[in-house]
Amino acid sequence: MSTETQNLKQKAVIVGGGPAGFATALMLAKRGWSEITVLEKRPSADFYEPDKSFNYLIDGRGQKFTDLLGFTDKLSKIGVPNTEFYLTEIKADGTCKTSKVPVVDPNRKTAYWLPRRAFLQLLYQEIEENWQDSIRVVFNTKCVKIDPRVEENLGESKLTILTQEINTENVFKLETNLLVGCDGINSVVRETLDHWDNSGTNQFKMQLFPSASSGLKYKVLTLPPNFPLDNNKSERAVCTMAYAIRSAFTDSQGGLSLGILPFADPNEPRTANIIRQPDDQIWKIQDGEQLYKFLESAFPQLPIPEIVSPEESERFAKSEGGFFPPPQYCSGLHWLVSAKNYSSGVVLLGDAVHCFPPDIGQGVNSALEDVSILNQALSQTNDIISDALPLYQSWRSPDLKPLTRLAQTAFPWQYNQDILRKRLWMINFLIRFLLSRGLPFIFSPPAFILIQNHQLSYREIWNKAEKTSKVLYLLLGLILVGSLLTLSFGYTIS
Ligand SMILES: Cc1cc2nc3c(=O)[nH]c(=O)nc-3n(C[C@H](O)[C@H](O)[C@H](O)COP(=O)(O)OP(=O)(O)OC[C@H]3O[C@@H](n4cnc5c(N)ncnc54)[C@H](O)[C@@H]3O)c2cc1C
Repeated sequence: MSTETQNLKQKAVIVGGGPAGFATALMLAKRGWSEITVLEKRPSADFYEPDKSFNYLIDGRGQKFTDLLGFTDKLSKIGVPNTEFYLTEIKADGTCKTSKVPVVDPNRKTAYWLPRRAFLQLLYQEIEENWQDSIRVVFNTKCVKIDPRVEENLGESKLTILTQEINTENVFKLETNLLVGCDGINSVVRETLDHWDNSGTNQFKMQLFPSASSGLKYKVLTLPPNFPLDNNKSERAVCTMAYAIRSAFTDSQGGLSLGILPFADPNEPRTANIIRQPDDQIWKIQDGEQLYKFLESAFPQLPIPEIVSPEESERFAKSEGGFFPPPQYCSGLHWLVSAKNYSSGVVLLGDAVHCFPPDIGQGVNSALEDVSILNQALSQTNDIISDALPLYQSWRSPDLKPLTRLAQTAFPWQYNQDILRKRLWMINFLIRFLLSRGLPFIFSPPAFILIQNHQLSYREIWNKAEKTSKVLYLLLGLILVGSLLTLSFGYTIS
């Protein structure tokens, strides 16, 4: 047995216990890696972060990972299937309309809605119940520094990770062969690689692209479970139902709305996303009392004091909220610390290498797909780090520009930033949809629909969308030339 094979499936340190980090830990444990440490700066897996309490829709792409670990069944029990997605719109005058959101292709895999916190807890439970011997999750601890080291006499390399406990500020060191960066958009691991990289390619620098939704500001208002939906308190919210609660305010941005997504647990608080331009009047509110007054005039159909506690009102007013990031990715997904016998390596997954506003619901699904692809690369190379990491990059990196282009274009106008642009976008969507039904060999459905097909890679989806755009431009050009010719012919005759 070579030194290389002896060192297989040893230690891995994962920075970040978000969806990508926990999923990678589970994947490695299933592959037989025995000493996996996850470093997470939050205090627990289910730690409630009000402004990160958004809902995920785990689709077929994300389920490639849950299938691999064999817990899609558990996911289906704690999620609301998209096949049962009902939306109730409540207008300011109190009128309500419930409609079932159509499932475009019933043959696609059922996707499940659930809160981020519930998904993280599901992954963590899986670690606690089945993989305690191989996975250690260290909460309240952050990675602060990484050092590569080659031991010339042994011909081996190691990575040393310097970590710090959040509360005590105690510092300790970890050594590993494989370091996995799953530490999100402001990844310390990626920044370190960028610092080390002197190839001149900027492969670890995020490339940023514009989008109509990036820069929008959001905050999340937490409401009680089953909150009353009218002033008589005769109707109460049902956890599995989505709500769009419209305000009495109308403006060029289409008015303010509370968007509430479904989930299965009837005891979990509901979360209303408020997404507006950064200069919107709601962000100028300074304290809980002002917010009450604002919400009462904006939503006269709701008994505001019954559904927003004074503490929540104050918290919301004082919260910084967040901004949708510009779509971005980097092309470098790995780094090898090469040695004679045994190389160590760093690999990046999830938001650390691709990040965008939530328009297309692919943040978590693309992160989980990264994990499935890394699993395939490890399988094909017998878990040899120096072979697996370049293979992972060669398979995944070509998807990232198309994914970013999809994030820029597939549904950026859904937040009512500009009603005219939204309508134009809807017309474009309808044209593509109808043409693809009538002439499926020439036209593809809109990208937003294609994304739901987990069997297509992001590359394939983007190519199909581009091909349809080209045919549409050609048709438009022909119609314009035809009209001009007809006009000039008519002019000559007369
Ligand atoms: C407002 C909003 C709404 C969204 N809605 C959706 C949606 O509807 N659907 C969807 O699919 N996606 C959505 N996303 C995106 C989605 O949340 C991310 O794509 C997904 O969480 C990526 O997972 P990740 O594990 O790569 O990163 P993260 O979820 O960001 O996890 C990174 C983890 O690393 C930890 N960490 C960071 N630095 C360190 C360090 N130095 N040491 C230790 N730990 C560290 C963090 O605490 C965090 O837990 C949304 C994002 C936002 C901002």
